Amino acid sequence: MKDGAILEALAEEIMEDKYYFVAIIGCVEPEVHGPFKTPEERVVRARTHNTRLSLKDGIYWADIIKGELVVGSFMASSMEDGDYICESEGCQTTVVRGTDGKFRNGARLPDGTILCTACDLTSLKVEREAAAR
Ligand SMILES: [Zn+2]
Repeated sequence: MKDGAILEALAEEIMEDKYYFVAIIGCVEPEVHGPFKTPEERVVRARTHNTRLSLKDGIYWADIIKGELVVGSFMASSMEDGDYICESEGCQTTVVRGTDGKFRNGARLPDGTILCTACDLTSLKVEREAAAR
């Protein structure tokens, strides 16, 4: 590979979107996990990791999108196992998660909310009463 091609490949890798989660242990010590290739993979891993954390620990998502870092909090419900009910009027579709952790008829948005693909409305968010961890 010529230098130009190597640099181009490097730049492409650097600019690739990356998904992490950060656990803050005892409100003090940050622990970075990732990068994961997709937000879905990240939330599954974060959910598993979350079961090992105590109430004094925190867990946040961190995305690098087009080279920019964005950090936010997971919805409590995204840290739970199970299915979600679409709250859109007239839909009420159950968004089912498979054993691989991926949604069969939905998707998780970068901010941790769940999109119901039955409605096919990008503004729609599926939420469920979230139990406190
Ligand atoms: Zn729906």
